[in-house]
Amino acid sequence: MKIDLSGRTALVTGSTRGIGRGIAETLAAAGARLAVVGRDIERAEDAAQSISSQARGFACDVGDVASITTLIEAVEKEFGAIDILVNNAGITRDNILFRLKDDDWDAVLDANLRGAFVAIRAASRGMMKRRWGRIINIASVVGIVGNKGQANYAASKAGLIGLTKTVAKELASRNILANVVAPGFIETDMTAAMTDDAKKTLYSQIPLERLGTPKDVGGVVTFLASEYAAYITGQVFVVDGGMVM
Ligand code: NDP
Repeated sequence: MKIDLSGRTALVTGSTRGIGRGIAETLAAAGARLAVVGRDIERAEDAAQSISSQARGFACDVGDVASITTLIEAVEKEFGAIDILVNNAGITRDNILFRLKDDDWDAVLDANLRGAFVAIRAASRGMMKRRWGRIINIASVVGIVGNKGQANYAASKAGLIGLTKTVAKELASRNILANVVAPGFIETDMTAAMTDDAKKTLYSQIPLERLGTPKDVGGVVTFLASEYAAYITGQVFVVDGGMVM
C-alpha cells in the first residue's frame, strides 16, 4: 500500500517547524504540492525550499481574519486549487482560571478556533466546486480530557472537534471529508525544554514509553488525506502513544 498524493495541493498552517513541518514533509513525500505557512515570509520560503521542490512559502497570522483570506486566495492563485487543508498552527497563553486574562482567552480562541473556521470557510468553496476535499484539524488530547492551567487552549481544541463534526456533516455530500488529529506529547521546541526527570515522569503515563514525533502525526494526516481514508469523516484520531484511552 503506497499513498500517492501527486496532483494534490496541500496547505498546512504553522509548517515552518514542529508538528506542522512533520506533516508538510510527510505530505510532500507522498507527492503533494505544498503551501508552507508561517508568520514570517522568509522563514516560510526557507522551510518550503528545504521540504520539496513542489513547496512554496506563504506568510499568514492565523489570528487575523484578513490574513487568512489573503492566504487562501494566494495559494489558490499559485497552485490552482487547495485540495487538502491542514489547520495546524496553534498557540498557548496558559494560566490558572482566576488569572486568565480576557486577552489571553481571545488570542487563543482567535488563532486556534476562529482561524480554522475562517480557513475552512474560504478553502471549502473551491473544494465544493471540484467535489473533492480533505480538511484535517490538529487539536490536542487536552481538548478531550482538559488540563489545569489551559482553559482557553482546551476550549479551543474541544471547539475544533465540534467544528470538524459539523463541517463533516455539512460537506459530506460534496465529497469533502473533515477529521481531527489529536496529538499527545510530541517532540517539538516545547518538549525539548523539559528536564530528563520530567520526561521520565511523563513516560510512566505513556504505554509506548516515548514522546511522539512530528512524523508520527504526519503519517496519520497523510493517511487521512489519501484515498485509503475515503470512507472516514467526522472522526477524532488520538496520536499519543496510548496515554489517553
Ligand atoms: P510550534 O509552536 O512548535 O510551531 C508553531 C508553528 O506554527 C511554526 O511553524 C510557527 O511558524 C507557526 N505559527 C505560530 N503562530 C502562528 C500564527 N499566529 N499564525 C500562523 N502560524 C503560526 O507548535 P507545535 O508544532 O508544538 O504544535 C502544532 C499544533 O499541534 C498546534 O495546534 C498545537 O496546539 C498542537 N499540539 C501540539 C502538541 C505538542 O506536544 N507539541 C501536543 C498536542 C497538540 P513561525 O514561527 O514561522 O510563524
